[in-house]
Amino acid sequence: MNIKKSLAYYSITIVKTMNQKIEPIGIVHSPYKQKFAIPRQPNLVSAGTATIELYTEFGDINCLREIEQFSHLWIIFLFHGTAEQGWSPTVQPPRLGGQDKVGVFASRSPFRPNPIGISAVEYSSHQRVNSKSTLEVKGIDLLDGTPVLDIKPYIPYADSIESAVGGYAEAAPNSGLSVIFTDAAQVQIDELNSIYPELRELITQVLTQDPRPAWRVKDNDEKQYGMTLYNLNIKWAVNNGSIAVTSILPEES
Ligand code: SAM
Repeated sequence: MNIKKSLAYYSITIVKTMNQKIEPIGIVHSPYKQKFAIPRQPNLVSAGTATIELYTEFGDINCLREIEQFSHLWIIFLFHGTAEQGWSPTVQPPRLGGQDKVGVFASRSPFRPNPIGISAVEYSSHQRVNSKSTLEVKGIDLLDGTPVLDIKPYIPYADSIESAVGGYAEAAPNSGLSVIFTDAAQVQIDELNSIYPELRELITQVLTQDPRPAWRVKDNDEKQYGMTLYNLNIKWAVNNGSIAVTSILPEES
């Protein structure tokens, strides 16, 4: 799907209860150019910064006044990359091995009646350059080009509930995998260091999450995988409890 669709395309008119139009206030620019290998929740990967560009109509710098007081922000967004695929009443979360089913409303799946997502991310900075307002955030789980519907401060006393129970997703996932780089891959990282100083850390953190589909997760996996971060094609394979990164090359345009 073309992620550069017009703003009007992503507008939603809620007619059932009121004649209220909802439209994106901005767009996410992130290192994650394809769905595969994006962390499955925010803050699992801290390396790699994303920029939220506010559209002109919502880019008045006053809209961001005092936002720096908050360490974290809620990003409310559209799952634009999968919205056209619709939804079903049950989903198979990766946390349950991709086999057991739970109800869509007992999941954080992108495939929902209204394809709206929420992510609490770390605020880094904001700026206004050439009459554009942008926010830098860390710890995102969002595809490049994600339309942003709203931004709100994360308020610990209300949003962090000490007694909360996390059901089948009680603790952060732990693949137990280590990540190593072949000499050739390390040379490529060194060459890219001035453009992407956090690249090694980003690749390591992303792969530690084991992005393989749940049904493929096993120790010895013959497959050679590829993922795209920024404009880089990264090849890797799993063997004996570790992931070896074998090559990192700019994608051919
Ligand atoms: N934190 C959000 C939530 O709970 O609503 C998203 C959780 S969802 C399980 C995270 C996954 O959504 C990512 O791993 C990625 O595969 C997918 N994703 C992220 N941005 C997307 C987008 N704009 N369109 C479609 N899928 C997206």
